[in-house]
Amino acid sequence: MLARYARFIMGIMTALAGVVSLAMTLPSEQAVPAAGEGSAVPHCWSIAIHGGSGTIGREESTELRAEYLAALSAALKVGADRLASGGDALEVCEAVVMVLEDDPHFNAGRGAAFTAAGTHELDASIMDGSSLRCGAVAGVRTVRHPVSLARAVMERLDHVLLVGDGAEAFADTTTLERVPNSFFSTERRRRMLDDALRERARKESAAHTGAAGKGTVGCVALDTHGHLAAATSTGGLTAKRYGRVGDSPIIGAGNFASSVCAVSCTGTGEQFIRHSVARMIAARMELLGESSVEAARYLVGQTLNPDDGGVIVVDAQGRVALVYSSEGMNRGAADCHGRFEVGVFEECAGVRTAAAPRAASAPTRTGLNGTLLCIGGGLDEKNEPVLRRFCELASSAAAATVQPRILIATAASGDQDGECLNIVGGIKSFCPGVVIDTMTRELPTDESVRLIDAADGIFFTGGDQKRITQRYRPEGIDTPECAALRRLLARGGVIAGTSAGDAMMGETMFLTGSSAEALGVGSKTGPQVGPGMALQPWVLTDSHFMERHRIGRLIAALSQSGTRIGIGVSENGCVEFDLSQGTARGIGVVPSLLVEGIGSVGDAVTAQLLQQGAVVDLVDRVRAPRRSFAAAPDTPRIAIDPGASRAASKGCERALYDTALANPGTVARLDLDGWWVEAWVDGAGGSGGLCLRVGSFEANQGL
Ligand code: ASP
Repeated sequence: MLARYARFIMGIMTALAGVVSLAMTLPSEQAVPAAGEGSAVPHCWSIAIHGGSGTIGREESTELRAEYLAALSAALKVGADRLASGGDALEVCEAVVMVLEDDPHFNAGRGAAFTAAGTHELDASIMDGSSLRCGAVAGVRTVRHPVSLARAVMERLDHVLLVGDGAEAFADTTTLERVPNSFFSTERRRRMLDDALRERARKESAAHTGAAGKGTVGCVALDTHGHLAAATSTGGLTAKRYGRVGDSPIIGAGNFASSVCAVSCTGTGEQFIRHSVARMIAARMELLGESSVEAARYLVGQTLNPDDGGVIVVDAQGRVALVYSSEGMNRGAADCHGRFEVGVFEECAGVRTAAAPRAASAPTRTGLNGTLLCIGGGLDEKNEPVLRRFCELASSAAAATVQPRILIATAASGDQDGECLNIVGGIKSFCPGVVIDTMTRELPTDESVRLIDAADGIFFTGGDQKRITQRYRPEGIDTPECAALRRLLARGGVIAGTSAGDAMMGETMFLTGSSAEALGVGSKTGPQVGPGMALQPWVLTDSHFMERHRIGRLIAALSQSGTRIGIGVSENGCVEFDLSQGTARGIGVVPSLLVEGIGSVGDAVTAQLLQQGAVVDLVDRVRAPRRSFAAAPDTPRIAIDPGASRAASKGCERALYDTALANPGTVARLDLDGWWVEAWVDGAGGSGGLCLRVGSFEANQGL
């Protein structure tokens, strides 16, 4: 029976190996090396732009969408070219925003939204992160490039913000180009005003500002000198009251830059002002040690309301966050590694963060219930196959009077029925007497929901992450199936998965990418992450771990997604998540690996082997302030032999951890296909575990 169990798990793993490597590859956020203090080596530059969070809807024509993508590309190229040739971040932000202000597609400068009075009142601001110098203007009517007037305020005055007539009078003292107010008008924006006024009349609500007219432009940049800057410019909300000022010219609300990060926002300005969104993102990064993505996701997902808008952030290491809760956000990002991408909806990396449901009172530590099992196979603590444990958990979730029901679910790319059959065999042998249903990708939603609602346990087979996401949680928005999965957990049920089936459990999952790619060796695309099923917060899981050299992509994906904890599930390993307690427990005979921290190339993160029976309190781990780690000891490296071929190298990552643990005060080092990983015992940080560092040979040479 054991042999049979091992065979079907192995079958799944083997089938998956091909599938994952065939999955699509898109450019994505990359961690970039930063130069050391005083180093002569220039920083790697990085830039992000936005053109508003509510300008076009999905229903608009593909031609219009293509126009937006082209307009974003043109602006991004101006910034990328200038940064690549050593341009200053502040200059670049101004230049890029000027391009966007001139482009009638965007709600800033030409193409600005109309006020309810049928005029245009423009707001803009700019900030230099290294000096905290900043300038802003609001209610400007005749200046072609409000961002340049904001810059003039910053450079020539002791003040930060000028409004209305005062700003216009100051403009008279400059050589900046002036235009009649009608210069900013476009037919499209006038139609939006008409629609908004009609809607307002219908609602008889003078306070209604309407989300339809949202849109703003912004740019954040890190230059090769290591300076950060941000600039934002807007026409404000369509049909806004005469004199209304939004967040864009309010430093700390819609725009902010420091030595830590640069932020530009778009969306319902009043909300961004109330919550000091831009400054708060910087503060979370400074004080809590959060990454740009973590901090941005917190503000967009937890603080703001659904559909309030989005933010772009670049940090001092060049890491970019593009986070929004609106349907889309016009956006783009480029960096010195060759990244260059733009998108409106899902075309480019960016995290669409659904606002978190706020429970009035959480019934458990996490507000969640039930059990998740990430199965790499093997035996549990009782020397029983872990699949039997799944059956037991499902049976105990079932009402005593009814037969337990188990649902085998698959989103495999190939033979879905075959995938299910593999597992059905195992379930039948380990849980005699349960009713087994199957759910394939094509099953209609109603039928899928009915089956999930009837189940006590669900087993997701392997498959292809991209398909899972598209089928069950496209763009991070719950489908009815997702809601039903959460109902299953709420009633104490169990959801298990293997391979891609376990990757989907977190908020974020890998879509594709190898360690080498993630670390900039070869294609330089990095790992692509996308929304998972969000059955648990905090943890990103990756399977086939010790055997397939995936530490690099796990670390890079943590950095990209802003997830704090990564668990690499080994073959013959298994990790059980008790959601009500917020714990992770090692189950399988082979330990899995828990990695903590938002790493990137050359950064240390902690690692811990999750041995059979070991329990980790994830709630505590996530709430604890981020630790910082001592540098690797300056001792000779112990080289781990990866073996002559990939097949022979199986298990060499395990040898790396074992060697480091057995030799405190030394660094164990493994070189693999253009990238390296080092491990050492964390004496100074006090985590009692290991520190890990990954890098690519190329990046290493550049440091
Ligand atoms: N935040 C801008 C404002 O409220 C508008 C927008 O970004 O859509 O003025």
